[in-house]
Amino acid sequence: MKINKVVVIGSGTMGSGIAAQLCNANIPVTLLDLKTEISEKARDRIYKSRPPLLIDKSKINNIEVGNINDDFSIVKNADWIVEAVVERIDIKHNIYKKIFESRKHGAIVSSNTSSIPIKVLSQNLSDDQKKDFCITHFFNPVRYMGLLEIVKNENNDIEKINFLKNFCEEKLGKGAIICNDTPGFLGNRVGVYSMQVAMTEAFKMKLSIEEADAVFGRPMGIPKTGVFGLYDLIGIDLMADVLKSFIKELPKNDEFQTVAKEIPLIKKLIETGYTGRKGKGGFYRMNKQDGKKILEAINLDTGEYSTSKKIDLKLDKVDLKSLINRNDKYGEYAWSVISKIIKYASSLVPGITEKFNDIDEAMRLGFNWAKGPFEMLKEIGVKNFFERIDNIKNNKFLENLFITKDENFYGERQLYTNIETLGKVRKRAIKVDKNNSAEIYRFKDFNIVEFITKANTLDYDSMDSLKNATDKPLIIINESMQFSAGVNLSYTMDFADKGEFKSIEKFIKYFQETCKHLKYCKHPVVSAPSGLTLGGGFEVLVQSNFVASHTNIVVGLVETIVGLIPAGGGCKEMLWRWSQSEEAKKDPDFAPLKVFDIIGYAKTATSPVEAEPLKYLKPEDKKIMNRNSLFDVSKKILENNNNFIPPEECSFNLSGKPLKEKMIRVLEKLYNDKIILDHGMEVGKELANVLSGGDTTLKQTLSENDLFKLELEAFMKLIETKKTQDRIKHTLSTGKPLVN
Ligand code: NAD
Repeated sequence: MKINKVVVIGSGTMGSGIAAQLCNANIPVTLLDLKTEISEKARDRIYKSRPPLLIDKSKINNIEVGNINDDFSIVKNADWIVEAVVERIDIKHNIYKKIFESRKHGAIVSSNTSSIPIKVLSQNLSDDQKKDFCITHFFNPVRYMGLLEIVKNENNDIEKINFLKNFCEEKLGKGAIICNDTPGFLGNRVGVYSMQVAMTEAFKMKLSIEEADAVFGRPMGIPKTGVFGLYDLIGIDLMADVLKSFIKELPKNDEFQTVAKEIPLIKKLIETGYTGRKGKGGFYRMNKQDGKKILEAINLDTGEYSTSKKIDLKLDKVDLKSLINRNDKYGEYAWSVISKIIKYASSLVPGITEKFNDIDEAMRLGFNWAKGPFEMLKEIGVKNFFERIDNIKNNKFLENLFITKDENFYGERQLYTNIETLGKVRKRAIKVDKNNSAEIYRFKDFNIVEFITKANTLDYDSMDSLKNATDKPLIIINESMQFSAGVNLSYTMDFADKGEFKSIEKFIKYFQETCKHLKYCKHPVVSAPSGLTLGGGFEVLVQSNFVASHTNIVVGLVETIVGLIPAGGGCKEMLWRWSQSEEAKKDPDFAPLKVFDIIGYAKTATSPVEAEPLKYLKPEDKKIMNRNSLFDVSKKILENNNNFIPPEECSFNLSGKPLKEKMIRVLEKLYNDKIILDHGMEVGKELANVLSGGDTTLKQTLSENDLFKLELEAFMKLIETKKTQDRIKHTLSTGKPLVN
């Protein structure tokens, strides 16, 4: 069997996302909707989507569009037909009738339903039709959410289901988990329950929404939107519909029912148009005071809004034990929420799945949790958990664990896939070293470095680990969302605040030395980025010998935004890459001017396809749809480079002063047009000095160390200025750039 053509019916949020992901995988796809809805609307939505659903926007016209009245006959050409229309059973049944009348025999038909059981969806189908029918439940936004739940019916052709699972893993890059036909399947059943527990406990324990989100967020390994922020993001009205469906589908004695009851404040919010970010606001809202935008938070008791307060728990890492052992309301809330989630998730085994491991994977892939409930239990410790938990009656999983007291009950991760993933390998690898910022593992005859800080920001310890790990071939890879958001700005600002600029200089020198070492040491180094790969993170990547990149990356040199310039070799490497182009051979100023433009504007790419024209990635770098495969591809790169010879050092011939003047003229125009302000001008001038080679002429040859020196000087000059420090502080506190 092969899937050469797919038809997606329903071009709303999900249908568009699925069609875009098929387009990303170069699979011909047609998107059908009602005559009134279709035309260019869906394409337009996909084109303008943020974050972008397409890896390569220029391929938008590869998605064919049509309407179900005039173009339905296209269904007969499809090997897979995905239904993603509104969640109404009458409409879905009508569509299946039409599809099965038209489809070619053997073509797979699936529904993207999030709540209708397969037995209800397929009730009008013949046994023969049921063979080819299943649920394929993608998550929103489809390009970025890893989870795909596949639900079978009792008549399915198992070979075909396995084929579809492999197709969705390999081509669409999804973590495909086969689930039983139970309400909400795995992800939403546990995910929505968890949100409801976090919310109802916050009401009960009288926490403010900011306090609840600070706990039910980063310290628990949950995205920082927390629960109230996530409610606003999903849509408070949509969540109310989801809950209604759970209340209807689940047995009356299911624990879910106790946390799904209608809350008067939520009813009022929906009625008054406070449906979340898409509406007038929700639990949080933006208000204007004296022309300034102010984030406000609702008071759960009174329903009144006031300026949102930042809560700092002083816990940057996922650290459940410290969190639940705190002697304050946050510790109490955390324990109450986590213990209830663990109890509920474990009560569902084996009912919703025999493999408890799959529940954790669904939470990781579908809700971006760092750990699922069972891994949380493992981290808390079986003994500790049972010392504190009250009643575990009728919970077979916990009753059993209470008897065995097996602290190692967890076993291997990612059982749902056959791919040799980092998560699987880590258990078998030897932990060689660990510091506050990274871990080194030895697997077979190579090393693995995994960064472990918040957003994997880099500091002295991260560099130490990279340097120490080069005694063997090395893969730099991580399981958390981001490869690295760049140098840790808080770490740098701490030194700046104390006036310890020598310490900053020492760090930058060590950063440069480490990156140079990665490039030229005798063993090959592979970087396997996914997610944010910015600033210093990109400098690590660009000075690795090989790259295996996930298709979902955000890559670029963004230092100028915070009033700095790349000083870990970013300017140098970009100059080198651009100086290899044909244009650069004819014009010595071509490469520096190009790089001036790219770094000056802090240009970023949101996919490898966008990254290549900027030369952030090279054509020979591997680009991979399935994040799970990054480790395996990196390993193969090392295996194919047993006789690795390090590259030769680069050298540069730059024009110096006349080139710098050209760049300054560009800056002056931007300044006069008020696109940049005073400090923008200063940063631009420092960048110009580095990229023009400083005090040099074309006849002089500069070494990599000369370029490193220029980068360092510029960086130090800038970090010592108040305006750069203002920019950094502003970005650290608001997440937004400061233009000064
Ligand atoms: P949506 O409202 O954004 O889009 C539904 C589309 O179906 C609309 O474009 C509508 O015009 C079209 N439609 C309605 N009747 C039709 C018909 N007879 N023929 C063809 N098209 C028709 O909805 P959505 O959020 O994309 O959800 C689609 C499905 O995916 C639902 O089953 C939903 O439960 C499920 N789902 C949604 C999400 C989510 O986050 N939105 C996540 C997972 C699954």
